[in-house]
Amino acid sequence: MSEKTLFPDLKPLFGDEWNARPTLIAGPCSAENEEMTLKTAHALHEMGVKVFRAGVWKPRTSPDSYSGPGSKGLKWLGRVKDETGMLVATEVAMASHVREALDASIDVLWIGARTTANPFAVQEIADTLIKCNTDVTVLVKNPVNPDVELWLGALQRLYNAGIRRLGAVHRGFSSFGQHLYRNEPQWPIPIELQRRADNVPIICDPSHMGGKTELIAPLSQQALDMGFDGLMIECHCCPAEALSDKEQQLSPTELQQVLDSLIVRNRHQPSDELAALRRLIDQCDDELIEVLNRRMDLCRQIGNLKKSQNMPVVQARRYDEILEQRMRQAQELGMDPSFMQSVMQVIHEEAVREQVEILRSKK
Ligand code: PEP
Ligand code: MN
Repeated sequence: MSEKTLFPDLKPLFGDEWNARPTLIAGPCSAENEEMTLKTAHALHEMGVKVFRAGVWKPRTSPDSYSGPGSKGLKWLGRVKDETGMLVATEVAMASHVREALDASIDVLWIGARTTANPFAVQEIADTLIKCNTDVTVLVKNPVNPDVELWLGALQRLYNAGIRRLGAVHRGFSSFGQHLYRNEPQWPIPIELQRRADNVPIICDPSHMGGKTELIAPLSQQALDMGFDGLMIECHCCPAEALSDKEQQLSPTELQQVLDSLIVRNRHQPSDELAALRRLIDQCDDELIEVLNRRMDLCRQIGNLKKSQNMPVVQARRYDEILEQRMRQAQELGMDPSFMQSVMQVIHEEAVREQVEILRSKK
């Protein structure tokens, strides 16, 4: 598919030395002061973490929330780099952030969810990066709203600006009301992003997604099970005292426990056995399409009959019977009835659409 060539010549996210898989980026939500930044960084370095994150400019929803130390925090990240050799990452949301971060030799910039949702801001960042002619790594978090085009568009703006160390971060999507997750994962969206841009590495941020420490391990495992390239996890030397995102930050010891619990999946090339099973799946899909085509032919014949007898298209009773019968049948076969409900709904919608067209046609 031509869409797959949207990002033809990407480089690895980081240089060889830092490119362990899965990629792990860890650090506090915000660099609050020099002491806690260094304390957290040294603990993470000892655990083998290679990329350290800390926000210095924090985009807070409320103006009354702690909004980071600002530019002076960049110096603390500089010390982290000098003392540990870790790469350092921070969030940028406007041209001045980009310039200051690059002047301070920050290695990784991330664009936050609120910024990705604003194409003007992303373009301003991209234009500034062009002028700086840099090899910096840029990670683009998903926009706050579930819009894959906006996410992809932001990645394209950066790619067009010459950024080749480019990655996506899935941190979930906001919604109204109380939910289990702070930001709903909506996994089909990052899957669609990967389909459209399969060489852009994708990292999961279970901290902002879950919003609570106990959700970080299961969300991280889910991301690894789905083949994500890495994780970005918030970690604070003393979470109880954190000035932002207190409920979701792990201590270094807790982070180690989460990491120890994770099963990393084997990303090697598909085996012969897998290839054989995939051929069988392809055969099933061929059969499915033929059957669907036969079914649509019958629906068109019924449409013509309804037209000749001046009947309306939708017969709610009949639709209800089909749904009920097929859901029951699916359950008997050990399938999820709600899956069958969705399948039958899509098929029925298409049948109705075609029949309405037939009824309206002049012939
Ligand atoms: C962050 O990573 O600290 C942050 C503000 O994230 P998001 O943009 O995902 O809310
Ligand atoms: Mn945070």
